[in-house]
Amino acid sequence: MSYSIAIDGPAGAGKSTIAKMIARQMGCIYVDTGAMYRAMALFMIRNKISPQDGNAISEKCREADITIRYENKEQVVFLNGENVNGLIRTEEVGKMASSSSKNADVRAKLVELQRKLAESSDIIMDGRDIGTCVLPDATVKIYLTASSGVRAKRRYDELTAKGEPCDYATIEADIIQRDHQDMTREISPLKQADDAVLVDTSDMTIEEAVETIITICRQKCF
Ligand code: C5P
Repeated sequence: MSYSIAIDGPAGAGKSTIAKMIARQMGCIYVDTGAMYRAMALFMIRNKISPQDGNAISEKCREADITIRYENKEQVVFLNGENVNGLIRTEEVGKMASSSSKNADVRAKLVELQRKLAESSDIIMDGRDIGTCVLPDATVKIYLTASSGVRAKRRYDELTAKGEPCDYATIEADIIQRDHQDMTREISPLKQADDAVLVDTSDMTIEEAVETIITICRQKCF
């Protein structure tokens, strides 16, 4: 039997780190849907589209061809044939992604791609609407969260380790604003699916979170 694991939750909860580790341990494919919204956001930034201009976003997104390939088991996102993995992890792109992902045409296009990926193999997919919209019949649904303070601290430590100057209070304010935008939008807002298991990682290590989720999967007999 093939399976799908849906992981949803707010920014900085550790979804991608945890999902990648689970994929490695369980031998399935990891799909990072945030990267697709980020690639679309990069396209909008490059074309000088305003995050507030819904019509322009709808129009422009038709010209963006977003595809996924796996190289050395790592997901690589291509925007009109260009590998953009190294360009989408900035705060600017994250903020634009949170705005342009409100758009129905952007979502329809990317959800179709995500569902196609899930048809062909066992997967773990993370995002904001995987359990509620993209894969409503996922074998296991997890809602992964942590307090905004803990999430901001993790991001602060990550940036500081890279030598990037940053301010803790600004990071936390941005996280709270992005959560609000993602949770209150009209289409596919971020929320826990009725049948999702809540995993709060505020007081957990990454390894503990991975172990907790794998145990939930094993209870489902796969
Ligand atoms: O997860 P990540 O921070 O990379 O996602 C960037 C933005 O893309 C999110 O803030 C959210 O607005 C959007 N997104 C979404 N649906 C998903 C994944 C991401 O709306 N499934």
